[in-house]
Amino acid sequence: MRILITGGAGFIGSNLVDALMAQGHEVTVLDNLSVGKIQNIAHHLESERFHFVNDSILNVTTLERLIRQSDLIYHLAAVVGVKYVVEDPLNAIITNVRGTENVLELAFKYWVRTVIASSSEIYGKSTEAPLREDADRLLGPTTVERWSYSDAKAIDEYFAFAYAKKGLPVTVVRYFNAYGPRLDPLGYGSVVARFFTQALRGEPLTVYDDGNQTRCFTYVADTVEGTILAGTVKEAAGMVFNIGSNRETTIKSLAQMIKQLTGSSSEIVYVPYTSAYGPHFEETRRRVPDTTRAKEVLGFEAKTPLEEGLRRTLAWFREEGLTTLSPRL
Ligand code: UDP
Repeated sequence: MRILITGGAGFIGSNLVDALMAQGHEVTVLDNLSVGKIQNIAHHLESERFHFVNDSILNVTTLERLIRQSDLIYHLAAVVGVKYVVEDPLNAIITNVRGTENVLELAFKYWVRTVIASSSEIYGKSTEAPLREDADRLLGPTTVERWSYSDAKAIDEYFAFAYAKKGLPVTVVRYFNAYGPRLDPLGYGSVVARFFTQALRGEPLTVYDDGNQTRCFTYVADTVEGTILAGTVKEAAGMVFNIGSNRETTIKSLAQMIKQLTGSSSEIVYVPYTSAYGPHFEETRRRVPDTTRAKEVLGFEAKTPLEEGLRRTLAWFREEGLTTLSPRL
């Protein structure tokens, strides 16, 4: 198949590229390299089955040309990560809403099956566990910038469902804390990356608040497998899926695991949210996916144990990740 991956130079996107290239597809990446890195896809540039277009999803002319030539779209391009969103909410909202609107409008025009990458941030600060796909969303006020990401992704989902209602085969995947090789080593959007970088540099591991907040960390190869299935299983059209592991880990214990794994002498320090994100920050204390639907419809389950995934991530950080770093976090 001819597959278009927006955001294909990013962390999850480039891992998706690897998997689809290995399956023998013709892959085109559209990425403006705002967060994505050319190093993530450089090993494919020589391949005749691979094409890279350095442009934005906001450029409709480019997008139209690429979508017209595609059999399947994985739309991953977005401004991701609480830190980016809080720093420049306008850019995040425009990219995340208008970009998806563009992709879906053109997918509808040329009738191309599409997978839209969404996020577990959709559920907001709901502590319901596990979170089923039809769980209520619980968000803070619009003056708290963090929630704009959740709402932008929600609009994307509404677009997706609206086009699905018109018959377009479109599927939404909600990612739960993916981690693995090619994480941004500076850790924008990932505590796993931050802790590895801090540990390997002998800097303190900064656990926010009391560290008892939890996440379900999902190894990127699993995230990619769920994503591919969402674009290929026929029954998945028109549906939304949680894509994540259901192993719940406290941030405190994640810090301990990474400290131990790296053999680092770094201390673990506890930092108030306010000094990390400013005075009006709100946090999601607990986030656990209900994975029943993904298992039943996609036949998908995240299989990589956290310890194993962290070991592989560490190997990547040691070999490549740290070489791209600036002096301090
Ligand atoms: N976190 C932390 N120290 C850091 C960065 C993040 O304790 O240096 C915590 C953060 O408060 C949250 C969890 O780790 O509870 C996951 O944060 P991340 O930014 O990785 O993802 P998200 O909040 O979007 O799940």
